[in-house]
Amino acid sequence: GVDGHLDERAVDTGVQPGDTDVEASLRPRSLEEFVGQPRVREQLQLVLEGARRRGDPPDHILLSGPPGLGKTSLAMIIAQEMGAAIRLTSGPALERAGDLAAMLSNLVPGDVLFIDEIHRTARPAEEMLYLAMEDFRVDVVVGKGPGATSIPLDVAPFTLVGATTRAGSLTGPLRDRFGFTGQMEFYDVPELDRVLRRAAGILGIDLRADGAAEIAGRCRGTPRVANRLLRRVRDYAEVRADGVVTREVARDALAVYDVDELGLDRLDRAVLGALVRSFHGGPVGVSTLAVAVGEEPGTVEEVCEPYLVRAGMIARTPRGRVATPLAWTHLGLAPPADAPA
Ligand code: ADP
Repeated sequence: GVDGHLDERAVDTGVQPGDTDVEASLRPRSLEEFVGQPRVREQLQLVLEGARRRGDPPDHILLSGPPGLGKTSLAMIIAQEMGAAIRLTSGPALERAGDLAAMLSNLVPGDVLFIDEIHRTARPAEEMLYLAMEDFRVDVVVGKGPGATSIPLDVAPFTLVGATTRAGSLTGPLRDRFGFTGQMEFYDVPELDRVLRRAAGILGIDLRADGAAEIAGRCRGTPRVANRLLRRVRDYAEVRADGVVTREVARDALAVYDVDELGLDRLDRAVLGALVRSFHGGPVGVSTLAVAVGEEPGTVEEVCEPYLVRAGMIARTPRGRVATPLAWTHLGLAPPADAPA
């Protein structure tokens, strides 16, 4: 994503300066190159082709799902497929409505405006966005107090692509103004295998089939994590082995980086450990859990939890988060008799 806050855990797995350039070089450039997400891809293909035939900019598009699944990449692909330019910003960067007004007034017809973490847009900017999305105009307020006047400005017809890790915390009026929502899913192992082989090809890494399989099974269903682990495994292969990424090299490297057999990293295990040991398996609120592991609630909720739920280790209940028997056994503990299945 554009906004780095959810990527802080990248530091945990040893991201080096310069890795962000590498990430950019690994971005798929077309829908063809984009691995996985067959549903979203098919839906988007239709949205884009329909718009192309009519000669209109496509409807506003919302992409929702956990970090690192390809929302920013897809936004860039949408612009690319429409032959349009893309402007990138993020909800937290739009603190004042004026910040958004400046971006909107610089758009040329057909531009794609990408807003990452759109659910974190401050209210005044969000309200300005409603009008811009619906009527392609904004009201810019000039001055303060009783003398303030509002000047209407036209905005070029554009396509807003919003990305969010929490579709649920979008306000109703904002959600209603998107013509299409793509729900991104975690990738399965064969898809991650393709992501890894593609990245290895671009980076010139000698990745063997068994090495790819080993990493694919341990990257939390997430292409960004797959590519990151591949780069760390490459370091290991070059420094401690002959540069070839085999299963054995991948295994040894991932052990060094604290990635376990299921792909859980230190933070995932800390969250599970707190849930099981400090709260006897729950239920416990996500913010309490975050405090227990010294992490931002947003990171625990938007980064850790979705994968732990998908891996079947945490269940969400109305009273809070609960550890499943799998969580207990994964930590080498016996689940209590009343643990939920
Ligand atoms: P998000 O915006 O959802 O956080 P990004 O689009 O920034 O995710 O993707 C992170 C990285 O993962 C990209 O730089 C790209 O290398 C890789 N990636 C994501 N989705 C795919 C995909 N479908 N195929 C290949 N690589 C992908």
